[in-house]
Amino acid sequence: MSDDAAGLPIPKDALAALPPLREVIARHGLAAKKSLGQNFLLDGNLLDRIARVPGSLAGATVYEVGPGPGGLTRALLRAGANVVAVERDDRALPALAELAEAAPGRLSVLGGDALKQDEAALLPPGTHVVANLPYNIGTALFVRWLTTDAWPPWWATLTLMFQKEVAQRIVAAPDTSAYGRLSVLAQWRTLPKIALDVPRQAFTPPPSITSSVVHVRPVAAPTGVSVRTLETLTAAAFGQRRKMLRASLRGLAGGPEALERCGIDAARRAETLSVAEFVEVARSLDASR
Ligand code: SAM
Repeated sequence: MSDDAAGLPIPKDALAALPPLREVIARHGLAAKKSLGQNFLLDGNLLDRIARVPGSLAGATVYEVGPGPGGLTRALLRAGANVVAVERDDRALPALAELAEAAPGRLSVLGGDALKQDEAALLPPGTHVVANLPYNIGTALFVRWLTTDAWPPWWATLTLMFQKEVAQRIVAAPDTSAYGRLSVLAQWRTLPKIALDVPRQAFTPPPSITSSVVHVRPVAAPTGVSVRTLETLTAAAFGQRRKMLRASLRGLAGGPEALERCGIDAARRAETLSVAEFVEVARSLDASR
């Protein structure tokens, strides 16, 4: 506490007074574990930049997967967010408890596996997701969040760190080598953008490649298409991406007929179909069942 001119106590900014992250890591023995995808971000300016990607977070609820020593969590709290975080590494929980003390009532931390959470039950609608995801589960979580039956989904925006190559697949256009199932599932009903690249040297320890922060907003969904059909269709089409659709969709009941109904040449390859064409074929498959 310090005193202002009128002699009233002013609460010291407990977040600003926290010890450096390196000290937290050393004191709590948080040596990075590869098996948990641990590559920590320690630069406060970079972390503040990431926390600004979704826009103003003042008063918003943010879901963070994998806070680790809490660098990004600190930035989210500095941005005025209320944070719900899930962390699998028990070693990080005491460090996160200290952070929760510095931001009373604004941080709750669950110990456990993010893949096992029921986010729609855990979080209020309109929650923003911001996370430096562990690479080993990043794509699985992302696909799960993209393919919720309810739309608009429980989340308002996703701001997620991926390997740059995965980020490029998410935003890829047709007729490029990066375009695939992930591009269609992402772009079908969201607007994904690469917000910034993060060099490998920014992480402790540095991973082998560059990373990118992807920002995703939901947009209105085209009607009459089931998520599962689009998933099955894109899995079949891109499962053999070098082949013509006539061959790659042979094993998908009604697939070749749906192509024909949509006037799509079966000699084309999956990577030439636009997202809208995939949606049209999925809609035709649904209608015929
Ligand atoms: N947010 C921190 C940062 O930016 O420095 C740490 C990011 S690190 C890339 C990924 C974090 O996710 C680690 O803290 C790791 O322990 C945690 N993690 C790994 N697998 C997890 C899982 N299945 N559920 C929840 N957290 C997990």
